[in-house]
Amino acid sequence: MLQVSRRQFMKVTGSTLAGSSLALLGFSPSTALAEVRQFKLTESIVTRQTCTYCSVGCGILMYSLGDGAKNAKRSVIHVEGDPDHPVNRGTLCPKGASLLDIVNSPSRLRYPEVREPGSTEWKRLSWDDAMGRVAKLLKADRDANFVEKTDAGLTVNRWLTTGMLAASAASNEAGYVTHKVARSLGLLAFDNQARV
Ligand code: SF4
Repeated sequence: MLQVSRRQFMKVTGSTLAGSSLALLGFSPSTALAEVRQFKLTESIVTRQTCTYCSVGCGILMYSLGDGAKNAKRSVIHVEGDPDHPVNRGTLCPKGASLLDIVNSPSRLRYPEVREPGSTEWKRLSWDDAMGRVAKLLKADRDANFVEKTDAGLTVNRWLTTGMLAASAASNEAGYVTHKVARSLGLLAFDNQARV
């Protein structure tokens, strides 16, 4: 049996009574403590993406802050696995889980660059200029080097002087289309990190 002295008993009941009286007067901390903590991603915008690192192609959710206010600059504040994605169902490996580092890395390439023949300098290009330039160079090389038939008369329709390497951050569907485009041009030297 619990042994309580008269002095201890008076102390406990006294403080309990004082506490109850304060609560009756509205000084109880319980109401404040019961308030629901704010969800840290409230107000953020969610964007679905594919992990940029490897050929598994896990789906990710990227949360960025920026409520549309005129001077608010939106930035990615959190990345997590997409629970609805059929590949990873919400999970990420340690590399994928640290994707926020590459998003905010000062050395991340954010725009196209070109190094002209003989130059040691990289020059920034607009996306339009880069796409136009790539298309023109591809066409010129294909026009000059496309092989329709071998010397023996065998139809091959191949283009061997250009290769293509596609990225991992593509869905199955994007990979399928990329593959079709490359092969329909006659490209044989083609690879994709996602192994289409
Ligand atoms: S989360 Fe990991 S396993 Fe998934 S695509 Fe990214 S690097 Fe590959």
